[in-house]
Order: sequence, then C-alpha cells, then structure tokens
Amino acid sequence: MSEPVIIAVDGPAASGKGTLARRLAAHFDYAYLDTGSLYRALAYDVLRRGEAPENASAGLRAAKALDLAMLNDPDILAALRTDAVGTAASLVAAQPDTRAAILQIQRDIADTPPDDKAGAVLDGRDIGTIVCPQAAHKIFVTARAEIRAERRWQELHQHDPQVSLEDVLADLKARDQRDSERATAPMRAAQDAHLLDTSDLSIEEAFAAALALVSH
Ligand code: C5P
Repeated sequence: MSEPVIIAVDGPAASGKGTLARRLAAHFDYAYLDTGSLYRALAYDVLRRGEAPENASAGLRAAKALDLAMLNDPDILAALRTDAVGTAASLVAAQPDTRAAILQIQRDIADTPPDDKAGAVLDGRDIGTIVCPQAAHKIFVTARAEIRAERRWQELHQHDPQVSLEDVLADLKARDQRDSERATAPMRAAQDAHLLDTSDLSIEEAFAAALALVSH
C-alpha cells in the first residue's frame, strides 16, 4: 500500500482549524485526529484527581494512562470543551515529558490511519513542525484574536450565559502566549506551511480556500 497522505492543520484556539480539518478529512475520506483533545483529556484527568495542571508528574502519569476510548464518550467530549479544561490543557501541554509520552500515539494514527483510510488529517499546534514534519500538506490557520474570542464566546455562551466576552478574550490571549512561548514544541507555522487567515471568511469560504491549498 502507498504511504498515507498526511494533512497538518495547525493554529491557535478558535481559529477555525478544527472545523477545516474535520471537513478536509470528510472530503477526502481520511482519518481525523484532533490532537488538542488528547491534551484536554490529560488535563481533565489531572483536574478530576484534584492535581495541579502545572504538576509535571501528574501530567506524565495521565499521559501514560491515557485511554483513547474515552474520546468516544459524548459526555466526556462535552466536558473537555470547557475553557477551564482548555487552559489546564495548555499548562499540561507545556511539559516536555508529557508531550513526548503522547507523540507516538499521534504519529501512529498519521502513519497507519484507522479503517485503512488513505490519509489522515491532524490538527493541533505542532503537527507541521514536530509530529508530522513530513506531511504532504501543511496549513497554519489564523484569525484576529477579537474574532476568535467572539467565536468561542458564541459557543460557550450557549451553555453558560454568565460567561463574558472580555474573559474569553483574556483567556485566549493567555493561552496563545503560553502555547507560542513554551520551550518545547511551541505553536509555530512550519516554514513550508500555507497561512490561511479566516478572520473575514465564512466557513464555506475558508473551506474552499483550504481545499485549494491542499489540491495542488
Ligand atoms: O486545540 P485545543 O484548544 O483543543 O488545544 C488545547 C491545548 O492543547 C492548547 O492550548 C495547547 O496548549 C495544547 N495542544 C498542544 N499541541 C497540540 C494540540 C494542542 O500543545 N498539537
């Protein structure tokens, strides 16, 4: 069998990378992996045990015990989407040993996509730079912070009417800063990545642009 085609989609929180990656995977009938959900699952486990997300040994223990089956449970998936878990995930994700412990899980899915799919789309922060530097296609998705905060606020507000746009923007900026300034695998566009700014694009326009980038 020929090598699977890998599409790496990186970018900051609420840039639209998840939606684009999922749609690209559906379009090409490739496997899809949201690598952020792995870090969120570790953070969820750490928080559930009452441990601090900054505690490197707690993150590493969660990584060694990670059971991917939990990502099939809709209740757990919903719990992983909160801002508190996102913030804790970025603290857990800053720990080098924890990142190393889940690197192979991501590479295995890229190298051997489940269900014999001919390719895989992975989204995250370091897919094009660290996890799959050999990816055939790389897109770094961005959008202005205010626009990303508004998108995230719309999402969170449905479940929690108390949440304020200002708090969402502040959390998002703090997370961007932590993710891009950490020493290990910082969020960064690979040199050979295409940049896609979705600030002024509808989902359909962004998808058309992403498709054009991976189709040549
Ligand atoms: O993409 P998402 O917001 O779900 O990611 C949650 C956190 O997980 C990010 O803020 C980032 O710190 C971390 N992450 C990472 N590397 C990835 C994917 C996510 O460090 N490949």
